[in-house]
Formats: sequence, structure tokens, C-alpha cells
Amino acid sequence: MRRLVCETRLSTEQLVLPLFVRSGRKLRRPIHAMPGVFQLSPDELVREAGRAHALGVPAVLLFGIPDRKDDRASGAYARNGIVQSSVRLLKKEFPQLLVITDVCLCEYMSHGHCGLVRRDKSGARILNDPTLKLLARAAASHAEAGADLVAPSDMMDGRVRAIREELDRLGFTDTPIMSYAAKFASAFYGPFREAAESAPQFGDRRSYQMDAANAGEALREVALDIQEGADIVMVKPALAYLDILHRVKTTFGYPTAAYAVSAEYSMVKAAAAQGWIDERGVTMESLVAMRRAGADILITYAAAEVARWLAEA
Ligand SMILES: [Zn+2]
Repeated sequence: MRRLVCETRLSTEQLVLPLFVRSGRKLRRPIHAMPGVFQLSPDELVREAGRAHALGVPAVLLFGIPDRKDDRASGAYARNGIVQSSVRLLKKEFPQLLVITDVCLCEYMSHGHCGLVRRDKSGARILNDPTLKLLARAAASHAEAGADLVAPSDMMDGRVRAIREELDRLGFTDTPIMSYAAKFASAFYGPFREAAESAPQFGDRRSYQMDAANAGEALREVALDIQEGADIVMVKPALAYLDILHRVKTTFGYPTAAYAVSAEYSMVKAAAAQGWIDERGVTMESLVAMRRAGADILITYAAAEVARWLAEA
């Protein structure tokens, strides 16, 4: 009876597994603050994605860690960059696996910011407009490698339009954009910066990411991204921003993704390791809450475990 009247369903079909790839062979470098998450060499990436795919996880979200960083993020749009070559590999092995790529510059920048930086006596500034060209190039290089969906996470103004125009110009008219539309400057990203080696070398990201206190601004950012051509909009982090998720879904009715970020995962793992909480129960309840708030798509580091639990249920 309870199953019959259940209002919110969790399904493996809604899950996206983020993965980190770097060059090498047989490499599984553990991320200290995210037990069970690794930086993977391309061969291990294929194995990990294959395992999740076999459990029914339909999609992965790729982050690349380049060998070299510079102040133009050239690895982000290199034809044979780590993400581009990994996308080719994944699509060859698993044509049915949806491969989403994170589009940003921070992992590829020597200074770790998401855009080009100008430094002068008065300090450092992010150069919004010149950054757009590089982001568009990065997105196009991912599409060219076979990415099914590109996901810009940089939060520069106008980047969705710049990416849409570049994709269309090069003939990738069918490649949709999932924009990190409401991305807050958040302490919940802490463990990720170790995973993606993308911590800013100076300053913080508050000039381009949103203030946790601002819900109205989040809705305006989402509206802009939709106007510019976003096909799916994302709210990030997830659990501490369920009100935003709800408002985004009810206001726009667009396909909406929730990104349960690194610390959301790490906190559950840490408390579970102490025996203080029931890992499975807390994880599933959190994901149901995101669904109930309006998320259609759940991006979570626990995607493979959740798929296993759902298969058992
Ligand atoms: Zn970034």
C-alpha cells in the first residue's frame, strides 16, 4: 500500500556519477576526504564507468586533471586533452553511456580560478568576456570528442550563449547544455578541490559564484541561462539549497539537476565510519528530499552504491 501511494520515487535512471580522470595507467589515487572516490587513469576510468553502467547508472560527469597547468588553461581545449581523449575512450567502450563533461578552466589554470585573471597593483580581477571564448572552445572540443552533453560550471556571465553559438557554428546543434545555473560559493566544495586539484591560489570565487544568502539572485541567474539556451539547469550544492531547487523547478519547469557535492558525500561517509549514522538510510533520504524538492536529475558520488541499494530494494 505504501508503495502504491508513494509520492516521490527514486530510480537508478535519475543518477549521474561524477568521475575524475588523469593521465597514467592502472592508477587509482584515493581522494583522502572522499572515501571510495579516486582520481583514475583512463583505463581505470573505463572500468569504473563500466561498473556503474552495469548497475544501471545511465550517465557520468567527467572532470579532468591535466599534467600541466598554465595561465590560459590550454589543457581545457586541447584536442587530445585528458577529458577529450577519455570521452572518445568511453564512447567507444559504452556507446549507450551518456557522457557529460564539466566545462571549466579552473583545473587547467595555474592560478586555479575559473577564468582569465588580470593582476595589477590594485589586486587581481577575473576577466569575464575574454574567458567566454576559451569556455566555448573547451565545450566544442568536448562535443567534437563525442560528449553527449556539456556542463559549464564556471559561472561567467554570458557563457551559455557563447557556448551555444560556438557549438551551433561547428555543427553540434544537437549537443545540449546543462548549465550550473545556480551555483553558490560554498564551503561544501572543500573535498572536491583536493579531487580536482582546483583550489584557487589566491582570493576566492565569490566574485563569480553566488552568495548563499541570495535566492532571488539564483532565480535571475537561472532565467538568464535559460534565455541563453540552457537545456537543463542545475542547483549546486543540493541538500542545503532545497528551497532554491524547489523554486527553480516550480518557476521554470525546466529539467532540473541537483548536485550533491563533495562535502555532502564526505559528511555521510565520515559519520557512517564512526557508526553514528546509517549510511544507506541517510543517503537515500537525502536523495528523496532532492527529488521531492523538484530535482529530475541527481548528481552524486554515491551513484553506484545507490544503484546497488535500489536493485536490492
Ligand atoms: Zn571552475
